[in-house]
Amino acid sequence: MPKVSVENPHRRPIPPVDLTDTAPMLDELAAGLALTADPDVLPDAGLRAARSAAARAAALGRDDDEALAESWACTHLSRLGRLPEVLEQAPRVLSRLTRADHHGRRRELLRHITLAASEMGRFGMAIDAAHELMELAQASGRPDDALAASFLLAACLERMGDAWQALRLLGDAVAAYADDQPSHPLLVATNAVCAICLGLAHRLRDTGDDDERSALLDQGRREGERALALLQRVRGDTYDVAVPGNLGEIRLMQGDVEAAWPLLDQAMTVARVRGLKAHMWRVSTSQADWHLAAGDAALARRRAQALIADMGEQAPQQTLIRAHDAAYRACRSLGLAAEALHHLEQAERLERKRSTGQLRSQSQVFVTRSEADRAHADAARQRQRAAEFAAAAERDALTGLGNRRHLERRAGELLPRAATGGQPLALAVLDVDHFKQVNDRHGHLVGDQVLVQLAHLLRENTRATDVLARYGGEEFVIVLPGMTLAAAAEVCERLRERVRGFGWPLNVDLSISIGLTAAPPPDLPALLAAADEALYRAKSSGRNRVVAR
Ligand code: GH3
Ligand code: MG
Ligand code: MG
Repeated sequence: MPKVSVENPHRRPIPPVDLTDTAPMLDELAAGLALTADPDVLPDAGLRAARSAAARAAALGRDDDEALAESWACTHLSRLGRLPEVLEQAPRVLSRLTRADHHGRRRELLRHITLAASEMGRFGMAIDAAHELMELAQASGRPDDALAASFLLAACLERMGDAWQALRLLGDAVAAYADDQPSHPLLVATNAVCAICLGLAHRLRDTGDDDERSALLDQGRREGERALALLQRVRGDTYDVAVPGNLGEIRLMQGDVEAAWPLLDQAMTVARVRGLKAHMWRVSTSQADWHLAAGDAALARRRAQALIADMGEQAPQQTLIRAHDAAYRACRSLGLAAEALHHLEQAERLERKRSTGQLRSQSQVFVTRSEADRAHADAARQRQRAAEFAAAAERDALTGLGNRRHLERRAGELLPRAATGGQPLALAVLDVDHFKQVNDRHGHLVGDQVLVQLAHLLRENTRATDVLARYGGEEFVIVLPGMTLAAAAEVCERLRERVRGFGWPLNVDLSISIGLTAAPPPDLPALLAAADEALYRAKSSGRNRVVAR
C-alpha cells in the first residue's frame, strides 16, 4: 500500500496519509463543508459538521480547508451565543484564512469578533476588528461593504457607551441609502438604528427627557418597519428574529401592548425553530416586560427568573441587566420587597460594571471626541466613494453616457411618475446606419471616435432631464419625460439632421435611424419593443429617418 508523507512546515507533524483511503475522506470533507455553509443548517448541526470537517481536513493535511471549516465553527458558535468561545477561536482562525477566495470568510469573522467583543466588553479588540473591516471596505470600494463597516463601528461605539455618536454615524449612513436597492447590509443597518434608539430609550426611562425619548422611539419604529419590509426581499437569518424582536420592544415601550405581542411572538418562534439561543434570551426579557405591562406580574417574575437561571455564565451583559431589571419591577409590583431588592442590586452592580468598563475603554482605547469625529469623517468619505462607485457602475466606459442599468433604474423612477401624474413620456431608440461599413473602411478606432462624438451630439441636443443611455454597440436610447410623441418627434428630427450635417472625421458619411414611441404602455420592456418596431420600419423604409409608432 503506497504511503506518502505530506510536507507541512507550519503545523504539528501529521501522520502519513494512506492514499488509497483519501478519496472517501475527501468526499466527506466536501460534504461537511457544504453542510456547515448551508444557510438553512441549524447552528448545532452546523457546528458539528464544521468540527468534523476540520478534523478530516487536518488528517488530510489540508490547512486551508481546516481553517475554512473552523471559520464556520465560529459562525455557528456566534449564532449559538457562545461568545467567549468566538473570542477565543476567531482571531486564531483569522490569521490562517489567507487565501484570496477566503476574503468573504475573513470579513465574516471580523464581524463576529467585533460584535462578540463589544458584547463582552472587550472594546479594544472590537475597535481593532471594526477598523480592519473599514480598511477592507475601503479597498473593495463596494457601497455595501462600507455600510456594513459603518454598522460595526457604530455597534462598538454604542456598546462603549456613546450611543448618540453611534446613532449619528449610522443614521447618516442609512439615510444616504435608498430602499430601492435592498441589500443585507441595509437590513443590518436599519435594524441597528432601531436597536440603538431602543437602547437609548431604555436609558432615558424615568429621567424626565420625555420628548427626546419619544422622538427616539419614533425613529426606531420607522427604521424597524423599514427593516421589516426589507425582510420580504432579503434573506434574514438572525434578523428574522432581531427585527421583529426590536420592533416589538419599541411598540411595547410606546405603550401599544397589543401590537407588541405578535411581533415578540414571531421573534420567539423563529428563534426557537432555528436554535438561536442568545436571541431567545433577549426576546424572553421583552416577553417578561410584556407580561408586566399586560398586568401579569407573577408570570413576568417567573419568566425573568427562569431566564436568569437558564443563561448562567454565558449571559450577555446587556440581556442579563435587562432580565434583572424586569424581575425587579415584577417583584416590586408583587410586593416582594426582599426579592425585588436582590434583583435591583444585581442590575445595579452589572450596570456599574458595564459603565466602568466603558469609561475605562474610552480613556484607554479610543474615543476622544476628535478621534470619534475622525472615524465619522472616514465613514463619510467612504459613503462618498461608495456613491462614486455606484455612479461608475451605471456609466458606459466609452461614451460616458448611462448604460442599460442606468436606463433601467431611471426608467423605474420616471415611468411610475408618468403613469400616476398623467404626464406624457416619450422613448426613442437610435441606431447608426451601416455602422459596420465605418469600421470596415476606417478601422475600429475611428468607429469608436464616431460613437464618442455621437454621444456629444446627443447630449447637446437633449435636455438635462432627458435620460441618455448607450443600449448596445451603436444603439442608444433616449427617454424624454414630459414630452408628447409629436414634441419628441421634433427633437429626434433635429438630432437626425445634426448627425447628417456634422463634419465627421475622414469625411465619414454618417446617418442615424430613430424609432419613437410614447407612454402608455407603462413599462420599459413594452416601450422598448414598440420603439424597436418603429426603428425596424425606419431601417426597412430606407434609413436616415425618424419613425413614430
Ligand atoms: P444597420 O444600418 O442595419 O444598423 O447596419 P449596421 O452595420 O449598423 O448594423 P449591424 O448591427 O449589423 O452592425 C453594427 C456594428 O457596430 C457591428 C459592430 O462591429 C459595430 N460596433 C459595435 N460596438 C462597437 C464599438 O464599441 N466600437 C466600434 N468601433 N464598433 C462597434
Ligand atoms: Mg444595431
Ligand atoms: Mg446600425
